[in-house]
Amino acid sequence: MKVALVGIGKIALDQHVPAIIASPDWELAATTSRHGTVDGVQAFTDIDDMLAQRSDIRVVSFCLPPVPRYEAAARAIRAGRHVMLEKPPGATLSECHALETLARKHRVSLFATWHSREAAGVAGARAWLADKTLRRLSVTWKEDVRRWHPGQDWIWQPGGMGVFDPGINALSIVTDILPDPIHVSSARLEIPENCQTPIAASVAFHHPGGAEISAELDFRQEGEQTWTISAETDQGMLVLTGGGAQLWIDGQEVAQDAGLTLTGEYPRLYARMARLVKDGAMDVDLSPMRHVFDALCLGRRVNTAPFIE
Ligand code: NAP
Repeated sequence: MKVALVGIGKIALDQHVPAIIASPDWELAATTSRHGTVDGVQAFTDIDDMLAQRSDIRVVSFCLPPVPRYEAAARAIRAGRHVMLEKPPGATLSECHALETLARKHRVSLFATWHSREAAGVAGARAWLADKTLRRLSVTWKEDVRRWHPGQDWIWQPGGMGVFDPGINALSIVTDILPDPIHVSSARLEIPENCQTPIAASVAFHHPGGAEISAELDFRQEGEQTWTISAETDQGMLVLTGGGAQLWIDGQEVAQDAGLTLTGEYPRLYARMARLVKDGAMDVDLSPMRHVFDALCLGRRVNTAPFIE
């Protein structure tokens, strides 16, 4: 299947392009980006031009930041293309619902991807937790924004979500592995004086069984980077490290399928998109976004030092 990539920035070049090139199912047929290009691939700077001139491309994959995403994705759907969205699938829930409605109307597939759910340890964690009683779950997602998001001013603007841009990956795993639904009960947001979005956040959740659930997110972590989820249950302790790549039960690493390496997240997303298109299906789960927006709504705001890149 031919696919066009829209928004040629860090994630498009780091993950989407290699995943598409390595897949026998996909051909990278065009890009659309104001500045970015991919060697040997037809490049457009305007999405309407790409959609008009390349009617042979049936799938469009969006790697834009969340704010400009809706308008571009809606154009592709109206032009009858199947659409794949990077996380988070939009800047607001209403935009995502509108895209879903539009996709149904135009009978195309829409896939709101959550790449961290494809990490190697996640399926094993879900299976292990299914019959346990949860007592406590903590997320620690601490990374250096200067290292992972260089020059990405959009993260600090309205709709950019700040530290929730990586934090939503943790929430996409938590919502996937927990058998029970949770919801935000309180939050504390640290917002640099010169930014619109948080650089750090502490979030507490209500769990129907009374388990203590919390998330600590921080963009100011230098040195060792931490993307860990720990769950204490009636029958032992589960830990996911490396953003979900490694699964530990009671201190012992659980062996993963050799094919499920960290770099396998995006190949698995494209394999799933191929199946959705073949089956005429949709996959739009907005639960990680709901938690982020609830935290942004309920959170007590504290001003912190300006962020200077
Ligand atoms: P990025 O490096 O800033 O790339 C996004 C690209 O979108 C830009 O290079 C830009 O290309 C284009 N764009 C169009 N309109 C824009 C606008 N108004 N503001 C900024 N850029 C605009 O960002 P990214 O890290 O690739 O992230 C893109 C999406 O992928 C985000 O939703 C992010 O959460 C997600 N993601 C990122 C990572 C990561 O590690 N970085 C990992 C997984 C998912 P042109 O200037 O050429 O148009």
